Amino acid sequence: MAAKGNLSAVLRKVDDLCLEERPIPQPGKGEVQISMHAVGICGSDVHYWKRGRIGDFILTAPMVLGHESSGVVSAVGEGVTHLKVGDRVAIEPGASCRYCSFCKEGRYNLCPDMKFAATLQLMAHCADTMFTLLTFVSSKSRPSLPDHVSFEEGALLEPLSVAVHACRRAGISIGSNVLVCGAGPIGLVNLMTAKACGASKVAITDIDEGRLNKAKELGADYIIKVDTTKDSRDLAKKVVDSLGLADQTIECSGAESSFHAAIHATKSGGTLVVVGLGKAEVQFPIVDALVREVDIRGIFRYANCYPTALALVASGAVNVKPLITHHFKLEQSLDAFETSRTGAGGAIKVVIHCNEGYQI
Ligand code: NAD
Ligand code: ZN
Repeated sequence: MAAKGNLSAVLRKVDDLCLEERPIPQPGKGEVQISMHAVGICGSDVHYWKRGRIGDFILTAPMVLGHESSGVVSAVGEGVTHLKVGDRVAIEPGASCRYCSFCKEGRYNLCPDMKFAATLQLMAHCADTMFTLLTFVSSKSRPSLPDHVSFEEGALLEPLSVAVHACRRAGISIGSNVLVCGAGPIGLVNLMTAKACGASKVAITDIDEGRLNKAKELGADYIIKVDTTKDSRDLAKKVVDSLGLADQTIECSGAESSFHAAIHATKSGGTLVVVGLGKAEVQFPIVDALVREVDIRGIFRYANCYPTALALVASGAVNVKPLITHHFKLEQSLDAFETSRTGAGGAIKVVIHCNEGYQI
Protein backbone atom coordinates (compact mmCIF):
# COMPACT_ATOMS: atom_id res chain seq x y z
CA MET A 1 0.00 0.00 0.00
CA ALA A 2 2.22 2.82 -1.22
CA ALA A 3 1.42 6.17 0.33
CA LYS A 4 1.00 9.02 -2.16
CA GLY A 5 0.87 11.95 0.21
CA ASN A 6 0.01 12.91 3.72
CA LEU A 7 -2.56 15.67 3.73
CA SER A 8 -3.32 16.70 7.32
CA ALA A 9 -5.51 19.19 9.18
CA VAL A 10 -2.93 21.31 10.99
CA LEU A 11 -3.61 23.94 13.62
CA ARG A 12 -0.79 26.44 13.04
CA LYS A 13 -1.88 28.86 15.73
CA VAL A 14 -5.11 29.94 17.40
CA ASP A 15 -7.92 30.18 14.83
CA ASP A 16 -5.60 29.15 11.99
CA LEU A 17 -6.53 25.65 10.85
CA CYS A 18 -5.35 24.60 7.40
CA LEU A 19 -4.69 21.58 5.25
CA GLU A 20 -1.02 20.83 4.78
CA GLU A 21 1.07 18.13 3.12
CA ARG A 22 3.23 16.59 5.83
CA PRO A 23 6.15 14.18 5.57
CA ILE A 24 5.16 10.52 5.50
CA PRO A 25 6.06 9.03 8.90
CA GLN A 26 7.92 5.73 8.82
CA PRO A 27 7.16 3.26 11.59
CA GLY A 28 9.99 2.76 14.08
CA LYS A 29 10.61 -0.28 16.23
CA GLY A 30 7.35 -1.50 17.75
CA GLU A 31 5.30 0.93 15.67
CA VAL A 32 2.96 0.65 12.73
CA GLN A 33 2.08 3.15 10.05
CA ILE A 34 -1.65 3.74 9.75
CA SER A 35 -3.53 5.02 6.76
CA MET A 36 -6.36 6.94 8.42
CA HIS A 37 -9.95 6.36 7.45
CA ALA A 38 -12.36 7.95 9.93
CA VAL A 39 -11.61 10.74 12.41
CA GLY A 40 -14.23 12.10 14.81
CA ILE A 41 -14.05 15.73 15.89
CA CYS A 42 -13.96 16.15 19.65
CA GLY A 43 -14.94 19.27 21.60
CA SER A 44 -11.31 19.57 22.70
CA ASP A 45 -10.14 19.82 19.06
CA VAL A 46 -12.54 22.73 18.56
CA HIS A 47 -11.38 24.28 21.83
CA TYR A 48 -7.72 24.17 20.76
CA TRP A 49 -8.67 25.64 17.39
CA LYS A 50 -10.50 28.61 18.88
CA ARG A 51 -8.65 29.14 22.18
CA GLY A 52 -5.21 27.54 21.72
CA ARG A 53 -5.25 25.87 25.12
CA ILE A 54 -7.09 23.57 27.46
CA GLY A 55 -6.04 24.19 31.05
CA ASP A 56 -2.28 23.62 31.21
CA PHE A 57 -2.15 22.05 27.74
CA ILE A 58 -1.07 24.99 25.63
CA LEU A 59 -0.59 25.10 21.86
CA THR A 60 3.06 26.05 21.40
CA ALA A 61 3.84 24.56 17.98
CA PRO A 62 1.71 23.56 14.95
CA MET A 63 -0.42 20.60 15.89
CA VAL A 64 -2.34 18.05 13.87
CA LEU A 65 -5.89 17.87 15.17
CA GLY A 66 -8.07 14.82 15.65
CA HIS A 67 -7.50 11.88 17.99
CA GLU A 68 -10.68 9.83 17.60
CA SER A 69 -9.53 7.67 14.76
CA SER A 70 -9.42 4.41 12.90
CA GLY A 71 -7.62 3.23 9.82
CA VAL A 72 -5.70 0.50 8.04
CA VAL A 73 -2.17 -0.64 8.82
CA SER A 74 -0.06 0.46 5.85
CA ALA A 75 3.44 -0.47 7.08
CA VAL A 76 4.81 -2.43 10.01
CA GLY A 77 7.92 -1.54 12.01
CA GLU A 78 10.57 -3.86 13.40
CA GLY A 79 9.39 -6.32 16.02
CA VAL A 80 5.66 -6.00 15.34
CA THR A 81 4.22 -9.46 14.95
CA HIS A 82 0.55 -9.15 15.87
CA LEU A 83 -0.42 -6.70 13.12
CA LYS A 84 0.09 -6.84 9.39
CA VAL A 85 -0.43 -4.55 6.43
CA GLY A 86 -4.15 -4.34 5.64
CA ASP A 87 -5.42 -4.85 9.22
CA ARG A 88 -8.29 -2.52 10.10
CA VAL A 89 -7.65 -0.90 13.47
CA ALA A 90 -9.06 1.55 15.99
CA ILE A 91 -6.32 3.65 17.51
CA GLU A 92 -5.97 4.40 21.19
CA PRO A 93 -4.18 7.71 20.80
CA GLY A 94 -2.09 7.95 23.96
CA ALA A 95 1.44 6.57 24.18
CA SER A 96 2.71 6.40 27.76
CA CYS A 97 6.30 5.80 28.94
CA ARG A 98 5.58 2.23 30.15
CA TYR A 99 8.18 2.54 32.94
CA CYS A 100 6.82 4.90 35.61
CA SER A 101 4.81 3.73 38.61
CA PHE A 102 1.52 4.81 37.02
CA CYS A 103 2.23 2.80 33.90
CA LYS A 104 3.31 -0.19 35.98
CA GLU A 105 0.10 0.01 38.03
CA GLY A 106 -2.02 0.09 34.89
CA ARG A 107 -3.05 3.72 35.39
CA TYR A 108 -1.14 4.81 32.33
CA ASN A 109 -3.53 7.70 31.66
CA LEU A 110 -1.78 9.43 34.60
CA CYS A 111 1.73 8.92 33.16
CA PRO A 112 3.56 12.27 33.30
CA ASP A 113 5.27 11.44 29.98
CA MET A 114 2.09 10.58 28.10
CA LYS A 115 2.24 11.62 24.46
CA PHE A 116 -1.18 12.07 23.03
CA ALA A 117 -0.97 11.26 19.34
CA ALA A 118 -2.52 13.63 16.88
CA THR A 119 -3.92 12.32 13.67
CA LEU A 120 -2.37 12.68 10.28
CA GLN A 121 -3.72 11.09 7.19
CA LEU A 122 -0.83 8.74 7.80
CA MET A 123 0.66 8.26 11.21
CA ALA A 124 3.21 6.08 12.94
CA HIS A 125 2.07 4.88 16.33
CA CYS A 126 2.89 2.28 18.96
CA ALA A 127 1.62 -1.06 17.80
CA ASP A 128 0.32 -2.13 21.20
CA THR A 129 -2.47 0.44 21.33
CA MET A 130 -4.08 -0.67 18.09
CA PHE A 131 -7.33 -2.50 18.45
CA THR A 132 -8.12 -4.69 15.54
CA LEU A 133 -11.49 -3.99 14.05
CA LEU A 134 -11.94 -6.69 11.54
CA THR A 135 -9.04 -9.03 11.47
CA PHE A 136 -9.08 -11.97 13.78
CA VAL A 137 -5.90 -11.74 15.81
CA SER A 138 -4.86 -14.74 17.80
CA SER A 139 -3.06 -12.84 20.56
CA LYS A 140 -5.04 -13.11 23.79
CA SER A 141 -4.53 -9.45 24.59
CA ARG A 142 -6.17 -8.30 21.36
CA PRO A 143 -9.91 -8.28 21.13
CA SER A 144 -11.09 -9.71 17.84
CA LEU A 145 -14.16 -8.60 16.02
CA PRO A 146 -16.59 -9.77 13.41
CA ASP A 147 -16.82 -7.78 10.19
CA HIS A 148 -19.64 -5.47 11.14
CA VAL A 149 -17.76 -2.76 13.04
CA SER A 150 -17.26 0.19 10.72
CA PHE A 151 -14.38 2.69 10.66
CA GLU A 152 -16.75 5.34 12.05
CA GLU A 153 -17.60 3.13 14.99
CA GLY A 154 -13.89 2.42 15.42
CA ALA A 155 -13.21 6.17 15.69
CA LEU A 156 -15.97 6.52 18.29
CA LEU A 157 -14.30 3.96 20.56
CA GLU A 158 -12.32 6.95 21.84
CA PRO A 159 -15.20 8.88 23.47
CA LEU A 160 -16.81 5.55 24.37
CA SER A 161 -13.65 4.67 26.30
CA VAL A 162 -14.07 7.89 28.30
CA ALA A 163 -17.53 6.64 29.28
CA VAL A 164 -16.27 3.16 30.15
CA HIS A 165 -13.69 4.74 32.46
CA ALA A 166 -16.27 7.09 34.03
CA CYS A 167 -18.84 4.34 34.60
CA ARG A 168 -16.16 2.11 36.13
CA ARG A 169 -14.98 4.85 38.47
CA ALA A 170 -18.59 5.55 39.39
CA GLY A 171 -19.19 1.89 40.21
CA ILE A 172 -22.34 1.62 38.13
CA SER A 173 -23.80 -1.88 38.19
CA ILE A 174 -27.02 -3.87 37.90
CA GLY A 175 -30.00 -1.91 39.19
CA SER A 176 -28.18 1.44 39.57
CA ASN A 177 -30.15 4.67 39.41
CA VAL A 178 -27.90 7.00 37.43
CA LEU A 179 -27.96 10.71 36.72
CA VAL A 180 -25.98 12.02 33.73
CA CYS A 181 -25.59 15.80 33.56
CA GLY A 182 -25.18 17.14 30.03
CA ALA A 183 -26.27 15.36 26.85
CA GLY A 184 -23.37 16.22 24.54
CA PRO A 185 -21.46 13.37 22.88
CA ILE A 186 -19.76 12.51 26.20
CA GLY A 187 -23.00 12.58 28.19
CA LEU A 188 -24.70 10.43 25.56
CA VAL A 189 -21.98 7.75 25.53
CA ASN A 190 -22.14 7.72 29.33
CA LEU A 191 -25.90 7.23 29.18
CA MET A 192 -25.51 4.25 26.86
CA THR A 193 -22.61 2.78 28.81
CA ALA A 194 -24.47 3.12 32.12
CA LYS A 195 -27.35 1.18 30.58
CA ALA A 196 -24.93 -1.45 29.29
CA CYS A 197 -23.53 -1.74 32.85
CA GLY A 198 -27.01 -2.70 34.00
CA ALA A 199 -28.36 0.62 35.30
CA SER A 200 -32.10 0.25 35.69
CA LYS A 201 -32.91 3.95 35.29
CA VAL A 202 -30.92 6.80 33.78
CA ALA A 203 -31.96 10.46 33.94
CA ILE A 204 -30.14 13.02 31.84
CA THR A 205 -30.12 16.83 31.94
CA ASP A 206 -29.31 19.48 29.36
CA ILE A 207 -30.20 23.05 28.46
CA ASP A 208 -30.76 21.99 24.84
CA GLU A 209 -34.03 20.36 23.82
CA GLY A 210 -32.55 18.71 20.70
CA ARG A 211 -29.85 16.96 22.68
CA LEU A 212 -32.41 15.77 25.23
CA ASN A 213 -34.55 14.33 22.44
CA LYS A 214 -31.49 12.47 21.16
CA ALA A 215 -30.93 11.14 24.69
CA LYS A 216 -34.50 9.88 24.80
CA GLU A 217 -33.97 8.13 21.47
CA LEU A 218 -30.83 6.50 22.91
CA GLY A 219 -32.64 5.07 25.92
CA ALA A 220 -32.78 7.74 28.63
CA ASP A 221 -35.63 7.01 31.04
CA TYR A 222 -36.01 10.65 32.06
CA ILE A 223 -34.93 13.78 30.23
CA ILE A 224 -34.76 16.97 32.27
CA LYS A 225 -34.50 20.40 30.71
CA VAL A 226 -32.26 22.71 32.74
CA ASP A 227 -33.46 26.24 33.41
CA THR A 228 -30.26 28.13 34.25
CA THR A 229 -32.21 31.04 35.74
CA LYS A 230 -33.35 28.72 38.53
CA ASP A 231 -31.47 27.50 41.60
CA SER A 232 -29.55 24.22 41.33
CA ARG A 233 -31.64 22.81 44.19
CA ASP A 234 -34.68 23.29 41.99
CA LEU A 235 -33.04 21.15 39.30
CA ALA A 236 -31.99 18.55 41.86
CA LYS A 237 -35.62 18.35 43.04
CA LYS A 238 -36.77 17.72 39.46
CA VAL A 239 -34.26 14.87 39.22
CA VAL A 240 -35.37 13.38 42.52
CA ASP A 241 -39.04 13.66 41.56
CA SER A 242 -38.43 11.45 38.52
CA LEU A 243 -35.37 9.26 39.12
CA GLY A 244 -35.14 9.48 42.90
CA LEU A 245 -31.75 10.26 44.41
CA ALA A 246 -29.02 8.99 42.13
CA ASP A 247 -26.76 6.16 43.27
CA GLN A 248 -24.17 7.48 40.86
CA THR A 249 -24.00 10.78 39.00
CA ILE A 250 -21.76 11.48 36.03
CA GLU A 251 -21.27 15.18 35.34
CA CYS A 252 -20.58 15.76 31.62
CA SER A 253 -21.38 19.44 31.04
CA GLY A 254 -18.54 21.23 32.82
CA ALA A 255 -21.05 23.89 33.98
CA GLU A 256 -20.57 25.06 37.55
CA SER A 257 -24.31 25.12 38.33
CA SER A 258 -24.50 21.53 37.11
CA PHE A 259 -21.87 20.45 39.70
CA HIS A 260 -24.10 21.90 42.40
CA ALA A 261 -27.20 20.10 41.14
CA ALA A 262 -25.17 16.91 40.75
CA ILE A 263 -24.17 16.92 44.41
CA HIS A 264 -27.67 17.70 45.64
CA ALA A 265 -29.20 14.97 43.48
CA THR A 266 -26.76 12.21 44.54
CA LYS A 267 -27.77 10.01 47.48
CA SER A 268 -25.82 9.97 50.73
CA GLY A 269 -23.00 7.49 50.28
CA GLY A 270 -23.30 7.76 46.49
CA THR A 271 -20.64 8.72 43.96
CA LEU A 272 -20.24 11.72 41.71
CA VAL A 273 -17.81 11.35 38.82
CA VAL A 274 -16.85 14.65 37.25
CA VAL A 275 -16.00 14.24 33.57
CA GLY A 276 -16.86 17.76 32.42
CA LEU A 277 -13.88 20.09 32.41
CA GLY A 278 -15.11 23.63 32.80
CA LYS A 279 -13.52 26.51 34.63
CA ALA A 280 -10.25 25.68 36.42
CA GLU A 281 -11.73 26.78 39.74
CA VAL A 282 -15.36 26.43 40.71
CA GLN A 283 -17.40 26.71 43.87
CA PHE A 284 -18.71 23.43 45.21
CA PRO A 285 -21.27 22.74 47.97
CA ILE A 286 -18.49 20.75 49.59
CA VAL A 287 -19.93 20.43 53.09
CA ASP A 288 -23.15 18.91 51.76
CA ALA A 289 -21.04 16.34 49.90
CA LEU A 290 -18.75 15.65 52.87
CA VAL A 291 -21.37 15.18 55.59
CA ARG A 292 -23.37 12.90 53.32
CA GLU A 293 -20.25 10.98 52.24
CA VAL A 294 -20.81 11.64 48.56
CA ASP A 295 -17.55 10.55 46.93
CA ILE A 296 -16.35 12.99 44.29
CA ARG A 297 -14.02 11.45 41.73
CA GLY A 298 -12.40 12.88 38.64
CA ILE A 299 -11.43 11.07 35.48
CA PHE A 300 -8.75 11.73 32.91
CA ARG A 301 -9.43 10.03 29.59
CA TYR A 302 -9.17 6.25 30.13
CA ALA A 303 -6.90 3.34 30.89
CA ASN A 304 -7.53 -0.23 29.75
CA CYS A 305 -10.94 0.77 28.35
CA TYR A 306 -10.53 0.33 24.57
CA PRO A 307 -11.03 -3.45 24.62
CA THR A 308 -14.25 -3.02 26.60
CA ALA A 309 -15.49 -0.20 24.36
CA LEU A 310 -14.82 -2.40 21.37
CA ALA A 311 -16.63 -5.33 22.95
CA LEU A 312 -19.63 -3.12 23.72
CA VAL A 313 -19.91 -2.01 20.11
CA ALA A 314 -19.16 -5.42 18.61
CA SER A 315 -21.77 -7.14 20.75
CA GLY A 316 -24.41 -4.50 20.06
CA ALA A 317 -24.64 -3.58 23.76
CA VAL A 318 -23.89 0.01 22.74
CA ASN A 319 -24.83 1.50 19.39
CA VAL A 320 -22.76 4.62 18.70
CA LYS A 321 -24.05 5.09 15.14
CA PRO A 322 -26.92 7.47 16.05
CA LEU A 323 -24.35 9.89 17.49
CA ILE A 324 -22.79 10.41 14.06
CA THR A 325 -24.76 13.21 12.46
CA HIS A 326 -22.37 14.63 9.83
CA HIS A 327 -19.76 13.29 7.41
CA PHE A 328 -17.06 15.29 5.60
CA LYS A 329 -14.07 14.49 3.42
CA LEU A 330 -10.58 15.45 4.60
CA GLU A 331 -10.49 18.30 2.07
CA GLN A 332 -13.60 19.74 3.79
CA SER A 333 -12.01 19.76 7.24
CA LEU A 334 -12.69 23.45 7.88
CA ASP A 335 -16.40 22.98 7.19
CA ALA A 336 -16.35 19.93 9.42
CA PHE A 337 -14.78 21.83 12.32
CA GLU A 338 -17.18 24.73 11.83
CA THR A 339 -20.16 22.35 11.90
CA SER A 340 -18.87 20.77 15.09
CA ARG A 341 -18.26 24.18 16.66
CA THR A 342 -21.68 25.64 15.91
CA GLY A 343 -23.68 22.44 16.27
CA ALA A 344 -25.41 23.44 13.01
CA GLY A 345 -28.03 21.01 11.77
CA GLY A 346 -28.20 19.31 15.16
CA ALA A 347 -24.56 18.20 14.91
CA ILE A 348 -23.46 15.83 17.63
CA LYS A 349 -20.53 13.86 16.27
CA VAL A 350 -18.90 15.05 13.07
CA VAL A 351 -16.70 12.53 11.26
CA ILE A 352 -13.98 13.33 8.71
CA HIS A 353 -13.17 10.63 6.15
CA CYS A 354 -9.56 10.55 5.00
CA ASN A 355 -9.59 7.70 2.52
CA GLU A 356 -9.72 8.90 -1.06
CA GLY A 357 -12.45 6.55 -2.17
CA TYR A 358 -15.00 7.63 0.44
CA GLN A 359 -18.27 8.90 -1.05
CA ILE A 360 -20.30 11.35 1.04
P1 NAD B 1 -20.37 19.38 24.66
O1 NAD B 1 -20.03 20.81 24.89
O2 NAD B 1 -20.75 18.94 23.29
O3 NAD B 1 -21.54 18.93 25.64
C1 NAD B 1 -21.85 19.59 26.82
C2 NAD B 1 -23.36 19.54 26.97
O4 NAD B 1 -23.70 20.13 28.21
C3 NAD B 1 -24.09 20.33 25.87
O5 NAD B 1 -25.08 19.54 25.27
C4 NAD B 1 -24.66 21.53 26.63
O6 NAD B 1 -25.89 21.98 26.08
C5 NAD B 1 -24.85 20.93 28.02
N1 NAD B 1 -24.94 21.90 29.09
C6 NAD B 1 -24.44 23.17 29.17
N2 NAD B 1 -24.77 23.74 30.35
C7 NAD B 1 -25.46 22.81 31.05
C8 NAD B 1 -26.05 22.77 32.34
N3 NAD B 1 -25.99 23.84 33.17
N4 NAD B 1 -26.67 21.63 32.74
C9 NAD B 1 -26.75 20.56 31.93
N5 NAD B 1 -26.21 20.53 30.68
C10 NAD B 1 -25.57 21.64 30.26
O7 NAD B 1 -19.10 18.56 25.16
P2 NAD B 1 -18.76 17.00 25.13
O8 NAD B 1 -17.87 16.70 23.99
O9 NAD B 1 -19.99 16.18 25.31
O10 NAD B 1 -17.85 16.92 26.44
C11 NAD B 1 -18.44 17.15 27.71
C12 NAD B 1 -17.40 17.59 28.73
O11 NAD B 1 -16.53 16.50 29.00
C13 NAD B 1 -16.51 18.74 28.31
O12 NAD B 1 -16.34 19.62 29.41
C14 NAD B 1 -15.19 18.07 27.97
O13 NAD B 1 -14.10 18.93 28.14
C15 NAD B 1 -15.19 16.96 28.97
N6 NAD B 1 -14.33 15.80 28.67
C16 NAD B 1 -13.55 15.37 29.68
C17 NAD B 1 -12.76 14.26 29.50
C18 NAD B 1 -11.92 13.79 30.64
O14 NAD B 1 -11.03 12.98 30.43
N7 NAD B 1 -12.18 14.24 31.86
C19 NAD B 1 -12.73 13.60 28.27
C20 NAD B 1 -13.56 14.06 27.24
C21 NAD B 1 -14.36 15.17 27.47
ZN1 ZN C 1 4.60 6.25 32.47
